[in-house]
Amino acid sequence: MMKSKGNWQMCGELGQGGFGEVLHWRNLTTGREIATKHIKDLNSLSADQQIKLSERWNKEYDWALQFQDFPYIVAGVNLDKEDPTFMNYLNEGHIVKLPVIVLEYCNGGDVRKRLRSPENANGLVEFEVRQILGALRHALYFLHSKCGICHRDLKPDNIVIKRGDDGKKVYKLTDFGLARIAPEKTMVQSVVGTRHYFAPEVVESGRYNSAVDYWSLGIIAYELVTGELPFIPHQTPKNILINLINKPKECIAITEDPENNSRFVNQFQLPQEHHLSRPWAEAFTKWLRTPLNTNYKERGQLATDEVQSVPVVFAELDKLLQMKVLTIFVINCCKRLEYEVSSEMTRGDLNDLIVRDTGIDKNELLYVLPTSHPHKKITAATKPLDLYVEEWSDTSREARKRTKCKNPPVMLYILQARKECDYNVPELNLSVLARKFLGNRIKSREKWLIKRVALDMLYMLTKEQATHEMFLAGVNEHALSLEDEMIDIPCSDTINKELLTTSFAYDQLKRLRTEAQAKSPTFQLNDSHEWEELSQNYEAIVKHANSIMCHISSGLRSAKDMVKRTNQLVKDFEEKDIFNASRFYQNYLCNGAVILPAELNKTGVKVAETRSLLYNKGEAKLSKAIDELHFYYVRSRDTIPVLLTKFKDIKNAIFGLHLKMLTPIPVAPPPMHHLSEAMSILTMSTDYPGSDPFDSLGTNSVIDEAERMNSILVREMEIDHY
Ligand code: ADP
Ligand code: MG
Repeated sequence: MMKSKGNWQMCGELGQGGFGEVLHWRNLTTGREIATKHIKDLNSLSADQQIKLSERWNKEYDWALQFQDFPYIVAGVNLDKEDPTFMNYLNEGHIVKLPVIVLEYCNGGDVRKRLRSPENANGLVEFEVRQILGALRHALYFLHSKCGICHRDLKPDNIVIKRGDDGKKVYKLTDFGLARIAPEKTMVQSVVGTRHYFAPEVVESGRYNSAVDYWSLGIIAYELVTGELPFIPHQTPKNILINLINKPKECIAITEDPENNSRFVNQFQLPQEHHLSRPWAEAFTKWLRTPLNTNYKERGQLATDEVQSVPVVFAELDKLLQMKVLTIFVINCCKRLEYEVSSEMTRGDLNDLIVRDTGIDKNELLYVLPTSHPHKKITAATKPLDLYVEEWSDTSREARKRTKCKNPPVMLYILQARKECDYNVPELNLSVLARKFLGNRIKSREKWLIKRVALDMLYMLTKEQATHEMFLAGVNEHALSLEDEMIDIPCSDTINKELLTTSFAYDQLKRLRTEAQAKSPTFQLNDSHEWEELSQNYEAIVKHANSIMCHISSGLRSAKDMVKRTNQLVKDFEEKDIFNASRFYQNYLCNGAVILPAELNKTGVKVAETRSLLYNKGEAKLSKAIDELHFYYVRSRDTIPVLLTKFKDIKNAIFGLHLKMLTPIPVAPPPMHHLSEAMSILTMSTDYPGSDPFDSLGTNSVIDEAERMNSILVREMEIDHY
């Protein structure tokens, strides 16, 4: 039954901890929401512990009211003045004479809940990991250096999420202080599940300083990234501690050998099942050594080169959080590439990396930007950093759905610009453990192991799904960009104009010649050879121009069709779970069904089949067709400048012939055997002035015509010069 008091209605329980419970209230008139924290049970504590609890509770109460303007710590709410009746009601109903703590309501659950969500079974996406670590870094620095408070109970359950109206999440630390009340020994026993986050020195000697929070930060960081605790969590506390105390500094995780359960293995790298980008994972692994250093003195060290004395663990984390990672998908080899980009990096540097990682020839690399990319167009001045899009770094399904035009899965697509490109898909990437299990080489059926195998398989399924999504999105973007390019290119206008002016000039000249000849049949044009050649050239150019226009317009039609088809594919894919990842999760990670090698094998075979259907038949074929279309388009487009020079040449030739008609007497002395002929023309023109061919046409009109032509041509050519 829902409780209510005045305008406040209780909406439900938000959580339960060792001693308390947290309730959710809504004010029905103002719509305001709050969380209230109550003590639930005191009887399990000794009198001594009860006193300590009271002290800490009062502290937590005071602190909550102090933490008002700090975004990364849950703020207290003071309703004493605003609504004393409600506060009295809460406090009077409290089982102890301690004030109920009123807090801002965080509507997004806590980080533990995020880790339990199916899509995070193998860890959170990089963006969310960064957000959470960033929030913890600021919250802890604030608590340690500004308030002199050490949290001591850091864990995913104590990080709550507040979602803004824009859907963006803010992560906030809560529940500080309570852990301190209990003496160390009882703390380990009474707060179930928390021991995994305690620094070894706490368990070993009960010693505390703020470095214990760094250890917990390291454990949380590892858990966020992999979905698992780093140090053999299924083992006994004693075994865990012994292994921790003896671990080398660089060891960031300890696992049990699945083939020999008395052997533990120190791990120096992250397992491959995570959702981090390659460069960030590398830097993260290095950073993790500091918070997970067993030696708490080293763990707590201050960074010496800092103006402010910031602990190394934070200084290094800050660098990590600033890293910009450019994400790329290479369509021809279905490969996702990730590179750290900085302002110094050049396009050449990026090309070199892509060539190194794909084997595609440098001259065949084609960059395709997603349609909604803020950089719009790649030019010679484009730098790799310009291609990085901060807002797209949140690759979670939820974030990508939230934004109006759906965020693309990567910031850039790469294609091989060739008529027939090679398409190859990387091999299925199943973990070593799962392979051994498949091959019946692991006899153990321990719970943790079976779960790990299922998680590894799930990881492979989700990666396949993601790769295929990137592939489809990339093919779609390729079609879109091709369509755009074809629409954008002003070719038909330019070519049409050239055709018009050239045919006008040509027709004029042709008419002039015919008329000159008709009016005076004795008039000889001694350029018939050039005229013939010009006519032939003219025909050829017109044909060429028409064929280019025809190619480009039919190409555009095809591109539009490709866009339609690929749009549909992308849309269809959204609702499909083609690799059955969700069903696999339901069966083997949710309902507790135990996976056996034979079933794992069946799932693997199914994946391989689906995959080959996609990449060898349907979608890849479409992509190849788009490649080909692109190839032919580029070829047509590249002949346009050649065509335009040809237009220019032929206009020059037309102009030349015009000029020649104006000066029928060759300037250079004619060869001897032509002399008499030339003389006769000369004589003829002096003897019969009326029969002068140019006179008969009207010399002035010819000159006018030629000048007019010339000015048109010069104007044209000036335009060409642009
Ligand atoms: P405990 O000391 O009993 O662990 P916490 O303060 O950690 O109490 O609260 C228990 C749980 O209640 C948290 O894990 C979280 O899920 C939820 N919770 C606590 N504070 C809030 C809040 N302000 N808004 C929403 N949920 C909260
Ligand atoms: Mg708690």
